[in-house]
Amino acid sequence: MKNIAVIGAGTMGNGIAHTFAQHGYKVQLIDINSLALSNALQTISKNLDRMVQKEVITEEQKTETLNNITTFTDITEGVEYASLVVEVATENEALKLKIFKTLDDACPEDTILATNTSSISITKIAAVTSRPNQVIGMHFMNPVPIMPLVEIINGFNTDKEVTDFIVNLTKKIGKTPILVNDYPGFVANRILMPMINEAIEALQCGVSGVLEIDGIMKLGMAHPMGPLELADFIGLDVCMSILEVMHDGFKNPKYAPNPLLINMVRAGKLGKKTGEGFYDYSKERKAVVPADRFL
Ligand code: NAD
Repeated sequence: MKNIAVIGAGTMGNGIAHTFAQHGYKVQLIDINSLALSNALQTISKNLDRMVQKEVITEEQKTETLNNITTFTDITEGVEYASLVVEVATENEALKLKIFKTLDDACPEDTILATNTSSISITKIAAVTSRPNQVIGMHFMNPVPIMPLVEIINGFNTDKEVTDFIVNLTKKIGKTPILVNDYPGFVANRILMPMINEAIEALQCGVSGVLEIDGIMKLGMAHPMGPLELADFIGLDVCMSILEVMHDGFKNPKYAPNPLLINMVRAGKLGKKTGEGFYDYSKERKAVVPADRFL
């Protein structure tokens, strides 16, 4: 395997492209938005600089990594030689189903199609293709170049050979694969998102403020980031979509996204990527957003 196509160059796509390219794979990074592609290349370059400074990689390895990445704005152009495609587009079921239909038509017959979805059914995505046995979930964690885990999700029809192949590939890029089955939210988000939603609920009810809620979880539970800061980092739109998928999938009201989360997404306050969420990222130092914004 040499060529890996990555569809979507946002928060996760740039990290996934970076990681494969750093391990010698030729990466075709594809996004419909050319600005997302140029931002992704800038982010990858900045992250590689940091790795050079910390002596994790050499300046030559940085250049090789960047040279391994080619960008495209058209899915069909970038995938024709890909042995593996990792889809990392926006968390939206209709969009992912459309992308997988396009990929199924455009990719060689033996190409494995993986998705980095946080919650959407792998089996449902696989069902729109003519190769459901070659579709699998590869759920990387944010930030990808640093986080060791990849949650590997078997669809109902995924072939064992495909799972074994993806497990080995995950190890080759220095990550730890953990296998799970295909239920809404898989394992990572089934546990994480209710915690984030509950933190938002506590804020909305006035139980405590942003700094206090995050402080309690950091100092009391040894979490490296508080749940509200983590929500900003993940993207509030992504958090809301994952909760909606679990709410719909389990038909259980405990997964319903909190109304404050919904309002913030509607208002375009998506967290770090838009400059404001529970914190304000527009200044040099991150600041907490005034409490009256959360009523
Ligand atoms: P993002 O909004 O940062 O980036 C999504 C990118 O997809 C955008 O650049 C957009 O232009 C692109 N896109 C949209 N439609 C496309 C299409 N038809 N073809 C090609 N590109 C298209 O989102 P993200 O946070 O990187 O999330 C991407 C995926 O990764 C989602 O499925 C999400 O659930 C999952 N994920 C996110 C996180 C996280 O912390 N953000 C963690 C794990 C998994």
